[in-house]
Amino acid sequence: MTENLSILGCTGSIGTQALEVADELSIPVGALAANNNISLLEKQIRKFSPSKVCVYNEKSAGILKENIKDTFTKVYAGMDGLCNIASQNSSDTVLTAVSGMIGLIPTLEAIKSKKNIALANKEALVAGGAIVTEEAKKNGVKILPVDSEHSAIFQCIQGIKDTRDIKRLILTASGGPFFGKKLSELKNVTVQDALNHPNWSMGKKITIDSATMMNKGLEIIEAVWLFNINPLQIDVVVHRESVIHSMVEFKDNAIISQMGTPSMKTPIQYALTYPGRMQSSVKSLDFTKYNKLTFESPDYETFKCINLCRQAIKTGGTLPAAINAANEEAVALFLNGKISFLQIQEIVEYIFKNHKLRKINSLYDIIDTDKNIKEFVLKKFGCGSN
Ligand code: NDP
Ligand code: MG
Repeated sequence: MTENLSILGCTGSIGTQALEVADELSIPVGALAANNNISLLEKQIRKFSPSKVCVYNEKSAGILKENIKDTFTKVYAGMDGLCNIASQNSSDTVLTAVSGMIGLIPTLEAIKSKKNIALANKEALVAGGAIVTEEAKKNGVKILPVDSEHSAIFQCIQGIKDTRDIKRLILTASGGPFFGKKLSELKNVTVQDALNHPNWSMGKKITIDSATMMNKGLEIIEAVWLFNINPLQIDVVVHRESVIHSMVEFKDNAIISQMGTPSMKTPIQYALTYPGRMQSSVKSLDFTKYNKLTFESPDYETFKCINLCRQAIKTGGTLPAAINAANEEAVALFLNGKISFLQIQEIVEYIFKNHKLRKINSLYDIIDTDKNIKEFVLKKFGCGSN
């Protein structure tokens, strides 16, 4: 059970729900970090009294400092500030809920400071899985999944005696807003169409990833690192109702699934109360409200990113970091109206095919790959307008 929590990304979709959980379970909050949203952060400071906060944007950090002069909370800024929050003394758990690769360095900092990680920030694990898992092992800390599919799998495998008994993991996918559409129908979809997710209200980056299904590809890579499993033992099934959050099949073909009302508060709470459980404000699932649960195969021809990610983690080295970087930059370009929806996966595929593969010898190889690919994508694809 978490005794004191720090949150990186406290003003986002996961961060705000995590603070609701912390409030409901009376978990003290040691430190908080956001990028720019100082009005919400100020409210959080006044409610939770963390000893430190970081605002990544230096100018906003300066304004917040003035605005909370009457409190005891210290304000930090930039990457140093994020690392300071990640290593906050009083906390035993750091929830990583920033969006994107920016979370990798502070995640490693938290691990080196012997904090357990409640991991939502999948991009950090996708790009830096080799180093993150090795550091976690070295420092004897746990990486507890917050992503709903991975939390589901983690819950399904509690108590198993031998991980070799696992035959396959079955990741469920909602299918996103464009499920059932063909490439020709996706040519002219707008940012607004892509942000219109049927089941979940999330930050913009992951909502676009759900629309391209890159999110499911990133989740395959995330599962490889979290559960030390061969990517070929991970299947994806589209399950529109988002009631089954994922499943594990064992070697005797028995399948265990984790179900519940779709709410990120359940996996967030499990990561914070692990290995125990506590009462939750999430509604009990009423099975009679669903007269059927459906399962379909993803359309791998239309949504190419799923298999690109599977291939990338099979190849290894810097390839997962490279396609993650391509995707992050492409999503930003799409959200800014610079490229079309389908160009996102075209860019990911282009980098997949053209990346000069390197071995990962150190953190530098990952950071360097990320920076180079983002610069390249911006330069090559970022000049257009739609
Ligand atoms: P949001 O965009 O809603 O929130 C992102 C948070 O990170 C905000 O608090 C933002 O601050 C902060 N942030 C961004 N950049 C920085 C930075 N440089 N320094 C400090 N803080 C920063 O994202 P989500 O909550 O949706 O997603 C967060 C992560 O969790 C992602 O990796 C996503 O893939 C994963 N995840 C999310 C799920 C969901 O349901 N939302 C489900 C499963 C996984 P500010 O508000 O000031 O910009
Ligand atoms: Mg997920």
